[in-house]
Amino acid sequence: MLKLKTPIEYVKGVGPARGELLQKELNIFTVQDLIQHYPFRYVDKSQFYKINQLSPDMPSVQFIGKLGEVRELGSARAKRLVAQAYDDTGRIELIWFKGIKWVKSSLKSGGQYVFFGKPSVFNGNLNVAHPEIELLSAASEKRTSVLQPIYSTTEKLSVRGLNSKGIEKLVKAALPEVAQELYENIPTNLHEQYRLMPRGAAIKSIHFPESNDYLRAASFRLKFEELFFLQMQIVQLKLNRQNSTPGYVFGKVGNQFMQFYEHHIPFELTNAQKRVVKEIRLDLKRGLQMNRLLQGDVGSGKTMVATLAMLLAIDNGFQAALMAPTEILANQHGIGIAEQLQDLPIRVELLTGATPASKRKVLHEALRSGEIDILIGTHALLEDTVQFKNLGLVVIDEQHRFGVAQRSKMWRKNELHPHVLVMSATPIPRTLAMTLYGDLDVSVIDELPPGRKPIETRHLRDSSRLKIFEFMKQQINAGRQVYVVYPLIQESENMDYKDLMDGFESITRAFPLPNYRVSIVHGKMKAADKDHEMNLFVTGQTQIMVATTVIEVGVNVPNASVMVIESAERFGLSQLHQLRGRVGRGADQSYCMLITGNKLSKEARERMDTMVRTTDGFEVAEADLKLRGPGDLMGTQQSGMVNLAIADLAKDGQIIPLAREAAINIWKNHPALEGDGLDGLRAFYQEQLKNHPNWSKIS
Ligand code: ADP
Ligand code: MG
Repeated sequence: MLKLKTPIEYVKGVGPARGELLQKELNIFTVQDLIQHYPFRYVDKSQFYKINQLSPDMPSVQFIGKLGEVRELGSARAKRLVAQAYDDTGRIELIWFKGIKWVKSSLKSGGQYVFFGKPSVFNGNLNVAHPEIELLSAASEKRTSVLQPIYSTTEKLSVRGLNSKGIEKLVKAALPEVAQELYENIPTNLHEQYRLMPRGAAIKSIHFPESNDYLRAASFRLKFEELFFLQMQIVQLKLNRQNSTPGYVFGKVGNQFMQFYEHHIPFELTNAQKRVVKEIRLDLKRGLQMNRLLQGDVGSGKTMVATLAMLLAIDNGFQAALMAPTEILANQHGIGIAEQLQDLPIRVELLTGATPASKRKVLHEALRSGEIDILIGTHALLEDTVQFKNLGLVVIDEQHRFGVAQRSKMWRKNELHPHVLVMSATPIPRTLAMTLYGDLDVSVIDELPPGRKPIETRHLRDSSRLKIFEFMKQQINAGRQVYVVYPLIQESENMDYKDLMDGFESITRAFPLPNYRVSIVHGKMKAADKDHEMNLFVTGQTQIMVATTVIEVGVNVPNASVMVIESAERFGLSQLHQLRGRVGRGADQSYCMLITGNKLSKEARERMDTMVRTTDGFEVAEADLKLRGPGDLMGTQQSGMVNLAIADLAKDGQIIPLAREAAINIWKNHPALEGDGLDGLRAFYQEQLKNHPNWSKIS
């Protein structure tokens, strides 16, 4: 008799050799893994569709039609066969790239056939590639009436008999034997509320659905379950922290804060900034550790909020630290914040990898003695030698650039954990935030400072470069500055550097001295040279900054009004958005030029279109999530926490709030997970925790 925990090799028809292969190829170690190897699609031979019902979001389906003329198009490698299929509702294109001879010789124009395949869109037309085809007369006799599961498998498994059909057989054999063990893990009163199918039935139906309705219900139930148990963990973490991680009480708003607030801020805070500062203030005086994410689009003014929070720390007798992911950014924060605070009796220091050892020693001393109030820096702050007298608040800028371990290291720099404010300019959709940062409190700056004009974004081809140079000249002659950014990807590093240097050369030729000055910054330069060049640009001594993405994060030059992005198709959406955020920081109209080659993949074109269409970071993030799926999104991998068998954070976003609400209610009403109908939930939850012990704190 099989159990869920039984090693896969003991399933009838597997054995040691295939067992090993299943482990290697599909990560299937046990019967349980097999049961959770859900089909990734289904073949629907349960009904015939009319041609006008077909749409690209359908699985493979069957329809009946008359075959039109079969034509051969293209030549050599591009050769293909094309034909139309008709019924009384419309027509659809059929296309073959392989087996052309055979198809041609065996199909008759004008014949009635049953076609079976996946509708999709190609060149703007709905079509079905490589349909299965049978003469109607032959097909009508042996119609099946179910959805047939299709399992992902690999070449190696297939040759050993474990193609989709083979896996289906294994599941069919194993499932009834372990049915007893598939106990209900969601209390039945929630079944009604959220319309959930019972667990056992759902698992059976996901493999062998009796109908499309059953399949939908099973799929919803299992996705909900997965997201629910994920939220159970996240919510628990959050509650634990809220209830039990004590923090320093920043009870008063004192002199420094008030002085600065009333006399030194060069502008009026936006309402969003005011609201967020208030949220932080309330948080800091509760006696519990603050662990807050500050989200705000590029240019929304997060730094000012961080500065005010740091002043609160100082007013309450503590030191504060601000950590940024790059040297350039740390420098900029160091200079900017020191300047803003210069009239106050506050000592701000900068510590980065470039700080010389002699200076470091002095800094270390002054930190320990408490003479330094605010320390700004890079990863260098994490080193054990960096010790504070009394660190009360840590601000982490562009937090997704830091690993979990790095961030948590800052936690241990004082007896009680210091308060933590992590800032991110990568807006993530709300539903995803619930999963990735669900245990943090979140503040959002959803408003840009007044007077900003939306950045005009254009998508141009390589061939328009001269026009772009013309435009840059106009802008520079009007007193503005320009960024030109090149991609730099590790795998193609040498080529990329060559492109960058070639680009730099042609720009210096087109923008010659003495009227124009061009800076260049890239990763191969020495830190001191980088700083020097950057500084020339920041202070307006150079008008053009040619760079790789080192300038992606944070850099702030309000006079820059043009961002030219070379080979823009090679950047992801969030990166493009970040880069674009480097301009549009002053009162002038700003521009972003996305330059690409002529040939673009569909996905790349969509990225460009999104950028041209909107400047709203949240909208960009939504589009990004749809295009790439969440697996790739920043933070997901590093946190290593999203390991889902069936739910998809991008596509199932609407289930997440329901799952979260259910989890919150459970923890609220049954903190010990005890009570009627909770046995299954408790057992399952504990099992899950045992299997994922390293589900560590984020930030
Ligand atoms: P980000 O949120 O991207 O880190 P910054 O903090 O760098 O944005 O702010 C961008 C620019 O906007 C800076 O020059 C900053 O001084 C300015 N700024 C911030 N808040 C305001 C405000 N309320 N009014 C006008 N300008 C502001
Ligand atoms: Mg910033």
